[in-house]
Order: sequence, then structure tokens, then C-alpha cells
Amino acid sequence: MRSFTSLITSGIKTYQVRLSEELRLLQLLGFTDLNVKNASTVFSNEDKCATKAHTELCILDTIAVCLISGEQDNVIAAALDKRENITLILAKNRHVVPEDTVRVSDFMSAVEGAELWDDVLPFLTKYSKEQLDKRIAHLRLSMFQHSEWLAAEARGYQFSSALETEFPEASVYLEASYPEAQPPWTPLRIILDVIQVCFKECDGFEMQSNELSYVRFYRLYGAANTLRNSAFLAHIVQDPRRAWRIEKLKRRLGKICQYSRIDLLIKQVRKGGVYPFRWIEMTSRGTGEGRHTLCNSPQDVVARVWKNPPGKQPAPSSKTVETHPNLTNWDEKLVVDTHIHAELRIILHLSRPFLSGSQKPSDMQLPIGCSKRSCLCCMLWMESFNKIVGTHWMTGGSHGKPYDAWALPGTAGDTLDAKWREFDVAVINGVHERVVKHVEMLLTTKPRTNSDDLASSGSELGDPLEEARRARARKHWLPRTT
Ligand SMILES: [Zn+2]
Repeated sequence: MRSFTSLITSGIKTYQVRLSEELRLLQLLGFTDLNVKNASTVFSNEDKCATKAHTELCILDTIAVCLISGEQDNVIAAALDKRENITLILAKNRHVVPEDTVRVSDFMSAVEGAELWDDVLPFLTKYSKEQLDKRIAHLRLSMFQHSEWLAAEARGYQFSSALETEFPEASVYLEASYPEAQPPWTPLRIILDVIQVCFKECDGFEMQSNELSYVRFYRLYGAANTLRNSAFLAHIVQDPRRAWRIEKLKRRLGKICQYSRIDLLIKQVRKGGVYPFRWIEMTSRGTGEGRHTLCNSPQDVVARVWKNPPGKQPAPSSKTVETHPNLTNWDEKLVVDTHIHAELRIILHLSRPFLSGSQKPSDMQLPIGCSKRSCLCCMLWMESFNKIVGTHWMTGGSHGKPYDAWALPGTAGDTLDAKWREFDVAVINGVHERVVKHVEMLLTTKPRTNSDDLASSGSELGDPLEEARRARARKHWLPRTT
């Protein structure tokens, strides 16, 4: 195990290359840290402060998602600097360009002029079309795979007679779609309808800058929201034998519904006005950022890791490593461009007073919104940072995956301070331990290839917007009479 002293005295680039190589190894082996992925959030529903932090996190997550363009590696993080006037702080995995500032200004204007979240769809289509289309395409795939199975399951499901129980958070959709006071419709009919609407509205749909697209997306949201929150879907999720079939579908429904949380931001803006904002720019000096060349083969990494084998375990043979199918992709990309991830840029920027000792951290949770869930290294780094500095930085969760392009923050351009490096050491050691354990299980572990992005838990709307929502629903959702 590398010692802290040796890290201090060695160049950070050397450690960055070794870290990236170990991360690449884990990545190709399909590693996901399930403990990190399933770690509970620090919220407690009984706690008023925690509820406030949760709402703030929802708003910040939504802002980050709305500002993303969908291009690969473009991750955005957002937090509030509350030291003087509240300011929205934004960071990217990549360098900030002038267009980023224009995009945020346009977003804030769109929110300021919006009555409800779908009024922001023209902005999203203009700046985030790729992301919207990706989410629609993913849902289309899930609906294509599972809609018939879901319909068959629904036919065998025992519905209760109370619509509110079967379809929580769907009253607006139901009132607009089924305006008749009396059935012919039944809960089964409604479920079959929303499955059908999700299937049909996704099919061949790509967002365009026109009213037709906006209405279609709105209808898709209505059906997706109704299905996602239905007691029927919750019933399937509770059954481990069937839940795996719809885990991805449920997440994808959530990603379509996530935009409805713009309503929370609209409410906030109505109360306190538009946030002033600024992007964080950081120097790469003293960090692991840059272009690095990795070693030629995964066997080199395994040999290095097993130089001093832990315990009495025998080192895995090179044959074992060679036979793992994904590792043959190792030399497809030997050069890696590393970047400090957006959420860590936020922490580094806003924590300087805590690190210098000029300010003591409070017990308040400090939410950071992200356009994607945090990765394994960010979680390890944040955990170490919070423990050492006494802060409570948090994001919406993690997918537990390693990324070889994750850069060590190092001194982040500051004067060398032993504390900075301790956070890096926590990541280096944490990744190293996982490589050791995972390579041990090389022959028996089935690679996982889950892809997890942050998904919201559906709409969370307040009373002031309720009537407007009903009117909008009546306008956009055609009544169903069969
Ligand atoms: Zn990360």
C-alpha cells in the first residue's frame, strides 16, 4: 500500500497514471461498488432541515440536468453559495466556454417566464435536444422489451377499487384523460392505456422545436408519471423474482418525469427571484488533470498489484486475466485525458474557508446537484473530505462505477497542504483495495454493465401551480372514452 509520505514526495502524475490504470482494469472487468451504489442518503424525513436540503437537492439536480447538452463526458454540477447573497455555483467536468454562460442566462429567463415546467421545453429542445432524445430512445427500448409482459402482468393483478390508491400523483392525468364521472374505464383499463401511450408516444419520436413535439412530450410525461407511481408497478418492484425486469424501465420513466421538477424551481424563482450565477474555472496546476499514457496491458497492472500479495492468496495467473473477454479491449485506448469531476470542483471552490481555518463548517447538509450520479472515486473522495474537514457535502447518490479519466484533485492550484493530499490518498487506497479484491474474484464474478443516471422520484408539485396544471392537462391530453 502506498504511504502518505511517499505520495507527498512523489509527482502526482505518477500516481494519476497508476490510479487510471487500476480504474481502467476495474472498468473493463465491469466492476460496480454495490455498497457505494446502495448507500443510503443522509436525509431523515423527520428532520425539517433535512427536508429543506432534500428540496434544495431536487432543484439543483434539475438545474444541472436542464443545462446538460447530452454530449459524452459533459457533466454539470450545481450548488448554492449562501455566504452573502445566494449565488448559484456551476461546474463542468470540462473547461467552461462563453456559450455556457449564455445557456444559463437563457435557462433562467425561460424559468422566469414559465407558468409550468413544460413552458421550458422550447429551451430544452434548443440546448438539450440530444439529452431529451436519448432519454426518449432509452424509454422506447424498455417499452419495446417489456410492454407486452407488463400488460399480461396487469391482467393478472388484483386492483383495488380506489383510484387514489392505485394511481397516486396521477389525478391531473386521470381527470383530463377520463373526464366521465362513471366508468366504462377501470384501473386495469387505465394501466393498459398508459402502457400503450408510453409505447406509442416514444415510437419514432425525436424532439423538434414545435408545439406538436412539446405536446407529445407532455403526454408522454403524463403516462410515464402515472405508470411509474402506480401501485401496480410498486407491486412488481417488491417481488425480487420480477423486479429485475423493470428496474431499468422504472429508472427510464423517472428520467422523463424529472423535468417536471422544474416546477420547484419556478416556485422558488417566484418567491425569491432568479439566482445570480457563476461558473467555476480552476487551474490544472497541482492536479492529476492532463493527458496520460497507460501501460500496454492489464497484466502489467495485475503484476504490479500482486507484487506484495495480500494475505496468503496466490496471484492470479496471467492466463486468468487474458481469458476475461473485456480485457482484450485494453489497448484500444492507451491515452487518457483526465478531468476533475464537476462535484469536486464545487467542493474545492466552496470549501476554501474551511480548509484555511477561517470558517468552521456547520452541521448543515450541503447539497450538490449533478446531471449524473456520482462515480466511485468522487464518493470515496467526498467521504474522506467530509470526515477530515467536518463538512456535510452530499449528492443525490452514486452508481458506484469507476472511470479511468477521473483526475486526482491534488493541491488544486493551492499551496501544498498535507490535508489536500489525504483526500487523494483515500481514493488511491480505496481503488487499490477494490482491485485486489475484485481480481481475486476474477473467475467467479460475472461482469456487471448497469448504466445508472440520476432519476427523479416523479413530480412533487405545490398548490399554487395545481390549477394551472389541470388546465394544461385538459388542453394537452385528449380524453379517452373507451
Ligand atoms: Zn465522479
